[in-house]
Amino acid sequence: MICHNCPVNCDIAEGQTGKCHARGVKDGKIVCQNYGRITSLALDPIEKKPLKMYRPGSYILSAGSYGCNMHCMWCQNDSISRGRVEADFLSCEELAGIALDTRSRGNIGLAFTYNEPSVGYEYVLDCSRLLKQNDMCTVMVTNGMLSPERFDTLIPYIDAYNIDLKTGDAKKYESIGGCLDVILRNIRAASDAGRHVELTTLVVPGFNDDADDFSRIVSAVAGIDRSMPLHITRFFPAGSYRDVSPTRPEKLYEFRDIARSKIDNVFLGNI
Ligand code: SF4
Repeated sequence: MICHNCPVNCDIAEGQTGKCHARGVKDGKIVCQNYGRITSLALDPIEKKPLKMYRPGSYILSAGSYGCNMHCMWCQNDSISRGRVEADFLSCEELAGIALDTRSRGNIGLAFTYNEPSVGYEYVLDCSRLLKQNDMCTVMVTNGMLSPERFDTLIPYIDAYNIDLKTGDAKKYESIGGCLDVILRNIRAASDAGRHVELTTLVVPGFNDDADDFSRIVSAVAGIDRSMPLHITRFFPAGSYRDVSPTRPEKLYEFRDIARSKIDNVFLGNI
């Protein structure tokens, strides 16, 4: 069976899972296997998502499951992204209850983060609807690799996004399982719908640290909305890139200057 949740369009045999390890086929149907399986839960400052220009100073309950539809070799969340992880089940009602209970500690809502939330699309949709019924905010921290139809279905229920824009080169994106056209399309769709959108580019030595590539990213963002915040973040060794040196700070300053020539809100991260 073909899973059409994301542009990878896996062809999955009965009893097997797709590339994200979060969706599989059971009894002839595509099943969201990570539904409600929460591996990480924390009350984080919203700036940590990172969101710099949305409700600054607030806190947000942040939940993650397991699985990811891309395969970046430097993943900082390897342990929950690369495969199935045993985790307790939390229904949407239970998760919304925790979000409501933590309002007294400054919580404004719920962020889907840590692993790639779009591979658990059904859970994100069900929980977000419930959160909106309770007047709480919803945030999605995502690689943007969701089918346009499903991405658009979520838009009314998501208040703010942080979306990765990893490279401006379609071939490089393909090498890590991404589809640049779909990601840019989804960024534009969320922005055009009036949602708060911030973007993140992690600068990884040897992958996307050349100025031409970064200039393509900047031009693409400026072509959508030059006021859209862009976070340029520093890589630290992780995943199978443990022997690669952290991004030189000078590289980040150089990229900040390139970005500021076309984009209004540029932030450096992890520095
Ligand atoms: S969501 Fe997972 S199973 Fe479905 S197409 Fe994407 S990678 Fe494959």
